[in-house]
Amino acid sequence: MLLNDTAAVITGGGQGIGAAIARTFADNGARIVIGDLDEARAKEFAASLGVDAVGVGCDVADGDSVSALLDVAIASFGSLDVMVNNAGITRDATMRTMTDQQFDDVVAVHLRGTWNGTRLAAGIMRANGGGSIINMSSISGKVGFIGQTNYSAAKAGIVGLTKAAAKEVAHHAVRVNAIAPGLIRTAMTEAMPAAALESKMGEIPMQRAGEPSEIASVALFYASQMSSYMTGTVAEVTGGRHI
Ligand code: NAP
Repeated sequence: MLLNDTAAVITGGGQGIGAAIARTFADNGARIVIGDLDEARAKEFAASLGVDAVGVGCDVADGDSVSALLDVAIASFGSLDVMVNNAGITRDATMRTMTDQQFDDVVAVHLRGTWNGTRLAAGIMRANGGGSIINMSSISGKVGFIGQTNYSAAKAGIVGLTKAAAKEVAHHAVRVNAIAPGLIRTAMTEAMPAAALESKMGEIPMQRAGEPSEIASVALFYASQMSSYMTGTVAEVTGGRHI
């Protein structure tokens, strides 16, 4: 029970990696607020966790919406100890065909969304004596993937944001770290063409995709005091891909 007496907010937590993180945190004693674009799914999933948990409709690209999400954590559980900025979308296309809208949408959800979540959570945590913020980057931000100029740019931006924010709030006992997953089995990757999936698989020394629970266990490490002297770091969780 590494997260006893803590309250955690997880964006994009209604499914996939965010849902796995919520389950792992709940299993470790945390009270949970799920923020997801799909309000009904957020509420249904929160109710299924079997612990104190609330589901809220939230668009991370909108600062007011993220602020309202954090207010729910304070109103429901009296604190905000862990913030996971996980919500994400893909709008893949090569530069020749990518529209301005596709570029802007991905940057808005990932980069502005993570900025909204990081600055607003950090503001609450520093006043309350500390906390842990976990931002979801991607190996795509480290190496760049064809068809993902938008996503790779946003995910690399999240690494810079994480390091800058970590330095700003370290003396307030607020830690900010990032996770860079490789290929993880979720709805996002199941939408990929089979040939693309197979070629990615060939790049993974462990020769398999990761499970959402394998990202969740690293998030638990960052959320808990197990990582009390770590801030501004990026954990690559990739089965050895692109090391
Ligand atoms: P997923 O299954 O598609 O889940 C993403 C969740 O984010 C969905 O519930 C989605 O809601 C929600 N969301 C999208 N836009 C949002 C917004 N503006 N505000 C609030 N919630 C929003 O994806 P996943 O694979 O679990 O990915 C989770 C995170 O890990 C993302 O940041 C992703 O980039 C990152 N990641 C994933 C992989 C992978 O292999 N799966 C690898 C590297 C990094 P709707 O479904 O209602 O839109």
